[in-house]
Amino acid sequence: MTDAQNTQKTPNVQNAQIALITGANKGIGLETARQLGAAGTTVLVGARSAERGEPAAAALRDEGLAARFVRVDVTDEATIEAAAKLIDAEFGRLDILVNNAGISVPPGPDGWAPPSETPVDAVRENYETNVFGVIAVTNAMLPLLRRSPAARIVNVSSELGSLAGNSDLNSPFAEINLLPYNTSKTALNGVTVAYAKELRDTSIKVNAVTPGYCATDLNGHSGVRTAEQGAAVTVRLAMIGADGPTGAFFGDDGPTPW
Ligand code: NAP
Repeated sequence: MTDAQNTQKTPNVQNAQIALITGANKGIGLETARQLGAAGTTVLVGARSAERGEPAAAALRDEGLAARFVRVDVTDEATIEAAAKLIDAEFGRLDILVNNAGISVPPGPDGWAPPSETPVDAVRENYETNVFGVIAVTNAMLPLLRRSPAARIVNVSSELGSLAGNSDLNSPFAEINLLPYNTSKTALNGVTVAYAKELRDTSIKVNAVTPGYCATDLNGHSGVRTAEQGAAVTVRLAMIGADGPTGAFFGDDGPTPW
């Protein structure tokens, strides 16, 4: 379906904040959209296909929230540009960007391989979504974010990307040495700091969050937290005030080591 054919109605919420969440058709992204919507934000449910995104947005509307599907495949520049054009035409600005879409490409055939046996292609594929996708979406949305009085960018990272955590052999995640995923989130942390630095003299705040180990499709639902719990820290950073941090890495308990 093209954008022109997309006739779904966005509930008209005067003066509501406008939030785009990538990968919002399921998991932590959907819960983030739900919680931002419940806080009065108009949520743009980013998903790579209408088949996945429309039902998610419709479910949120059934809950009384202001939600609409926006097609965004973070590895496809054309969909990113089309999404930016659509948001510009309909809303004229963007207040919150949540770079949530993420994948975990297995390093080996059984879901595991040490770094020395990990194919470069697996690493590259992971970076296309978790790193380059975030850069592409952020750059396309920044002109819209600059029109907001106080825009917020939240990058959904992971404790598995923490260099401090990965260097600590006593860390609870010490054995999870996944080269494609972990280092993609380390790079995403670097991306977060780089944008925060560029935007430090503006009202735009850029932070990274770790949702904790949540039961979602990403990990075959092995996580010990719910997606709802995982979304809470993203929502908090998406709604921080002018006195809040920028260029920081946050978990549920506050700042967490890079
Ligand atoms: P999930 O249920 O698998 O959801 C991932 C979402 O990303 C889906 O909506 C998926 O869409 C979307 N996505 C993947 N590739 C995309 C692309 N190229 N363009 C647009 N959307 C794309 O996993 P999740 O656990 O909720 O993950 C959300 C974020 O949290 C990820 O960044 C993940 O790394 C991070 N995280 C998760 C955990 C955890 O324990 N679950 C821990 C730390 C960090 P499709 O349905 O089309 O695949």
